[in-house]
Amino acid sequence: MNHIFGPVPSRRLGYSLGVDLVVHKTCTFDCLYCECGPTTSLTIERKEYVPFDELADELGETFKDPPERLDYVTLSGSGEPCLNTRMGDVLELLRSISPAKVAVLTNSSLLTDPEVRRELGLAHVVAPSLDTAVPETFNLINRPHPSLSLGAMVKGLVEFRRGFGGEIRLEVLLVKGVNDSPGELERLARQIELIRPDTVDVNTAFRPGAARLKPLTQEELESAARGLGPLARPVGSFCGDGSLKLTGFLEKRVVALISRRPCTLDELAESLAAGEKEVREVLKDLEKRGVLKTQDQKDGRFYSIVV
Ligand code: SF4
Repeated sequence: MNHIFGPVPSRRLGYSLGVDLVVHKTCTFDCLYCECGPTTSLTIERKEYVPFDELADELGETFKDPPERLDYVTLSGSGEPCLNTRMGDVLELLRSISPAKVAVLTNSSLLTDPEVRRELGLAHVVAPSLDTAVPETFNLINRPHPSLSLGAMVKGLVEFRRGFGGEIRLEVLLVKGVNDSPGELERLARQIELIRPDTVDVNTAFRPGAARLKPLTQEELESAARGLGPLARPVGSFCGDGSLKLTGFLEKRVVALISRRPCTLDELAESLAAGEKEVREVLKDLEKRGVLKTQDQKDGRFYSIVV
């Protein structure tokens, strides 16, 4: 499986099977906090980055024997999924074969395009992100493709809300000292009122990202969420029940997961329904081969793949 990973223990979506529609690391942004590392292809060009037939084959295989516990199938991964021109076809296929709901994580940049809005309309849940309402901060934190404008992006979000009957979970990611001042939060709260999402998940950069950043403390996160209005809530820790049962080649699945998202040993063991000892062995082996990267953070030791 080259384009399917997980299920990932997602703090917002429970057990979520990831489907990657682009190649590493293709995005319209180069966010300071990106868990996938620096963007190597900063683009706004939509095309079939991953062939639809390949994805359809992998999805068909996966859903012949789906994971026992699956809350969502989520388009996400090594970049911006809306860049793939076959996103609508993938969503249609998933709606017909997946027992779980279908979600899309997007950075909102391409919602200016009516065709992207139409395709996203096929998902049950769309989780667009918006970290700031201030253009200078947008350039600082999201480092967008030069042709993108924050104002147009917010208009696209408002337009999408008008036509979408599913759930919109707006995500705001806060970085200490960058986009968490009272003035920043007040301006963002006004934009959120215009966008009218169903919920606002307020998160902080707690995983290793492209740059070393300071996360907010739990108290600061809660206070910031209050500043963003009644729909906003701080995102809690993932809490799974460990009931997931999967079969498969562990090393390949560990690599598929940590090459897209840094994880702790606990997260890997739980997500992949494997014993800690087995996962530790796989990690040791990857370390010996020089492809494992470790970073110690407040929430534990995170493992990723050297890119
Ligand atoms: S965090 Fe998301 S939007 Fe930002 S660079 Fe990474 S993949 Fe792109």
